[in-house]
Amino acid sequence: MRYMEDYDLYKEAGKIAGEARRKGIAYVKEGRSYLEVAEYIEDYILQRAELAFPVNISVNSTAAHYTPSKHDEKVFKRGDVVKIDVGAHVDGYIGDTAATVEVGTSLYADLIETAKMALHEAIRVVKAGVKIEEISRAIEEKIIEQGFVPVKNLQGHSLERYNLHAGISIPNYYRKMGRRLKEGEVIAIEPFVTNGDGIVVDEGIGNIYRLSSNSPMVREIKKRFHGLPFAERWLYDIYGEKTPLKIAFLMKRRLIAPYFKLVEVKGGIVSQAEHTLYVKQDGCEILTP
Ligand code: MN
Ligand code: MN
Repeated sequence: MRYMEDYDLYKEAGKIAGEARRKGIAYVKEGRSYLEVAEYIEDYILQRAELAFPVNISVNSTAAHYTPSKHDEKVFKRGDVVKIDVGAHVDGYIGDTAATVEVGTSLYADLIETAKMALHEAIRVVKAGVKIEEISRAIEEKIIEQGFVPVKNLQGHSLERYNLHAGISIPNYYRKMGRRLKEGEVIAIEPFVTNGDGIVVDEGIGNIYRLSSNSPMVREIKKRFHGLPFAERWLYDIYGEKTPLKIAFLMKRRLIAPYFKLVEVKGGIVSQAEHTLYVKQDGCEILTP
């Protein structure tokens, strides 16, 4: 029997995701490996909830869709601009949140602060009845005012149970969308800010995959990850050291598909800030504080 409402489960997932984000950001330091940080955050979430997607660790001009592989040896270097994007779910109700930290320096403090400011300007606008484009406008205006550029081909999104990107897109620049927010909707707003051109392009493997078939051959993956994105690392529990071969096979058969690492086209540095929000009649609630 279900005693909790959707709202309470979103609250619970959001609280865990927010705490995991904060702990992860604090754990990033010079010389520590991406893998240590990813596993530290994922362990924190797994003790309290489930993973809605692999921890994304995106550094410098990489904007999104990178998680360390099982045998990843990359370590954080002084001056790196690091985006940590985490997702936790409780019974399919997802909290999605991200923040940016610079390792040991503060050359990009303005760029990092601008993503946070744009997110908070957007949050001030959110309430039932507001057009999506008003959120986009608030984000873009703040970023331009601060002398930077929004990343145009990454966007916020609505969330539904077991569905991370559930239909509504929230661009980071003004563009007529028409659609208005409704009370009770759950959305993630995620400004990406750069000193480059504001476009990201695919660049190689990000070690994150999604199911692209319902075939019995991927039944175990479906069962474990509920159709949500999963990491190459996570498949070692199923396939052991044969995992790379297995992935190649499953991709060839089009049973799974990769997410590609997304990199700023001119090599611009990218910052990101993200919260999941619950839309109310007169405003909104930040679910991932
Ligand atoms: Mn996210
Ligand atoms: Mn998101």
